Amino acid sequence: MAETESCALHVPPLEDICESFKRGLEKNYAEVHVTVVDCPDLTQKPYCFPVKGLCGKSRIADVGGVPYLVPSARLDKVYNINTVAKKINLPGAYILGAGATSHKSLGMNAEMIFSVQAESATTPSVNDNYVASVNPADSSCLLEKYRDKNSDDEFGLLSNLYASEGKPGKVIEVKVKRRTGQDNFVSCMRKSLKEHYGDNAVGIGGTFIIQEGKAKLHVMPREFSVCPLNTDDDVNRWLKFYEMKAPLICQSVFVSHDPGFDLRLEHTHCFSHHGEGGHYHTDTTPDTVQYLGYFHPAEFLYRIDRPSVTHLVGRD
Ligand code: ZN
Repeated sequence: MAETESCALHVPPLEDICESFKRGLEKNYAEVHVTVVDCPDLTQKPYCFPVKGLCGKSRIADVGGVPYLVPSARLDKVYNINTVAKKINLPGAYILGAGATSHKSLGMNAEMIFSVQAESATTPSVNDNYVASVNPADSSCLLEKYRDKNSDDEFGLLSNLYASEGKPGKVIEVKVKRRTGQDNFVSCMRKSLKEHYGDNAVGIGGTFIIQEGKAKLHVMPREFSVCPLNTDDDVNRWLKFYEMKAPLICQSVFVSHDPGFDLRLEHTHCFSHHGEGGHYHTDTTPDTVQYLGYFHPAEFLYRIDRPSVTHLVGRD
């Protein structure tokens, strides 16, 4: 795998992050509660993660990038989650986040929703990733477990990942109801960190549930575009958009400030237990929406295989 760059992130006390989140969310939601709590047991429903928590040696990894997807897909860009875990000095890490599948492994393009414990020296990987694809029969969304389709731990093109030892510990609990502003749930928190911490980059990973309402998500088609996708409009015409219903469990990674690594600043993919999943844009039912999330800051940022030629198309 190609070059890896890294830097330390700014890690404020959890209580400080709470204050920052609260300020940003109160501008956009009618009811806001943000507190430090013990992480709930994430092996339980609806999360069903292979680990209990989000704590211990936390890191963010930004792998590949949108320039490997548009204007034209780079099918040679294939990565392995176990190799990523070693590159970030955390073999056996629990990794969540948002990215793309490996076309080589699945024979199609699709959204990857990460929830995987990488292999360690003594234990095999536990791959609970989901794949969301466009159903060729009726263009509906098709959500499947990655391990039901494939036995490897590969992914492709780009991914935004939060890694930790998966231990229990203190996390930030965020509960909001009724959206009154325009920003989505994640953008509110990301922008409030930027306002609060400026050029000190704070990176956050976690999981949240859209408990009530519906949300706008996209799924990439199985086939890459024959024509190059040169603008956001081209990308949006190629993507399939859906309105999906709660409860949606969303794996989210965001960074308040790019310290010069050509980062994707926020990326969230959702799965569910009713067959829907994909890339989160925002909720579509502001009057009834409810979110519940658990978040933790990352200590280090790793940039793996950064594209040498970049652009700002398709970063939404
Ligand atoms: Zn995505």
